[in-house]
Amino acid sequence: MSNMTNSTTSNPTNSATNGVTSNAMSSTTSGTNAMEERIAFIGLGHMGGPMAMNLAKAGYAVTAFDVSPAALERASQAGVMAAPSAAAAVEGATVVISMLPASRHVEALYLGEGGLLSHLAAGTLVIDCSTIAPASAQRVSLAAETRGIGMLDAPVSGGTAGAAAGTLTFIVGGEAQALERARPVLGAMGKNVFHMGGAGAGQVAKLCNNMALGVIMAVTGEALALGVSHGLDPQALSAMMAVSTGRSWATEVCNPWPGVKPDAPASRGYAGGFGNDLMLKDLGLAVEAALQVGAAVPLGELARNLYALNSRAGRGRLDFSSVQQLVAGDGGPLG
Ligand code: NAD
Repeated sequence: MSNMTNSTTSNPTNSATNGVTSNAMSSTTSGTNAMEERIAFIGLGHMGGPMAMNLAKAGYAVTAFDVSPAALERASQAGVMAAPSAAAAVEGATVVISMLPASRHVEALYLGEGGLLSHLAAGTLVIDCSTIAPASAQRVSLAAETRGIGMLDAPVSGGTAGAAAGTLTFIVGGEAQALERARPVLGAMGKNVFHMGGAGAGQVAKLCNNMALGVIMAVTGEALALGVSHGLDPQALSAMMAVSTGRSWATEVCNPWPGVKPDAPASRGYAGGFGNDLMLKDLGLAVEAALQVGAAVPLGELARNLYALNSRAGRGRLDFSSVQQLVAGDGGPLG
C-alpha cells in the first residue's frame, strides 16, 4: 500500500481543503467536452441501476450490461442502451464504470484473456465504484496502466437513496489527472468527491468508514437494548443520545430500534437499506487490509463476527441495523 500515500494531497484543482470538492464541471482538464464521453456501465443493481440512469438523465450516452436481464430492462426503460455483453457495452466507450458486488467480479471483468482491459483502447478511463479489496483495485489499476488505460477506484457512500437522488459521495484512489477527467461524470451521480491518494486508497478509506459504521451500529443497538431492559423508552433514550456524546448516524438517522425513526429500515422490518451481508463483506475486507499491514483492529474483528452471527440467524439480506436483534437477544424489539 506504500504507493497510496504520495498523491493524497496532490489534487491541484481542489477548491476546498482535505480533498472535498463539489461536482459541477462542464469540461475536463484535458480539454475534452465532458458530454463527448461515451460511457459503458457494467452492473445495474441497487446502486448501479440508478447511477446509470442519472448519467443518462444528465445527457450522457450510456450503454450498459448486467447479467440480470431484469436489471438491464429496467435501465433501458430509463434511457440507458442495453448491450448483450460487457464486451459489446464497451465498444466505442471512452469511460467504463463498473458497480459489481465484490473483488472476484471486478477482477473477472477486467483481467485475464477475455477481460475487458484487452478490449479497451489506450486512453480509456475505467472507474470502478464497487467496494472491493484495495489489493484487487491495485491489481486492476496496474494492468490498466500497462495498457495506457487510466483507472480510478471510486467506491461510494450514500446508499441506495443517495444513488437514486444523485447525491453519492465518491471516495477516490488513483492519479489526480484521471480524477479531473472523471469529475463531470461523477458529478452526474454524486455530490462530493474525496481524493484519498493513489490506486487502492479509495478502497482503504471506504473500508475505514464502514468499519467505524459497523462498530457504531452494533454498540448503539447494545446501548438501546440495555436501556430498554431497565425500562427506558427507546425513543427518549435515542433523543437524548442524539444530542449527547453518544450521537451518531445510528442514533440520529438509521436508528436500529423499530419505531424510533419512522423512515429507518428498522421501522419497516429492516427491509431495504444497506444489507447485513454487504457490511459483513466490508468488515472482512477491513480485517484483511489490517492483516496486510499488521494493524490491530480488535473492534472491527468483533463487529465482523457479530454481523456473521446476524447473517447466520437469517438476517443476511436485511439492513445491517438488524444487528439490533442479535445484541438484544430473545427479548429484542421484534420479540
Ligand atoms: P447488487 O447486488 O444490487 O448489484 C450488483 C449487480 O451486478 C447485479 O445486478 C448483478 O446482476 C450484477 N453483476 C454481477 N456480476 C456481473 C457481471 N459479471 N457482469 C455484469 N453484471 C454483473 O449490489 P449493490 O447493492 O448495487 O452494490 C454494488 C457495490 O456497491 C457493492 O460492492 C457494495 O458493497 C457497494 N455499495 C452498496 C451500497 C448499498 O447500499 N447497496 C452502498 C455503498 C456501496
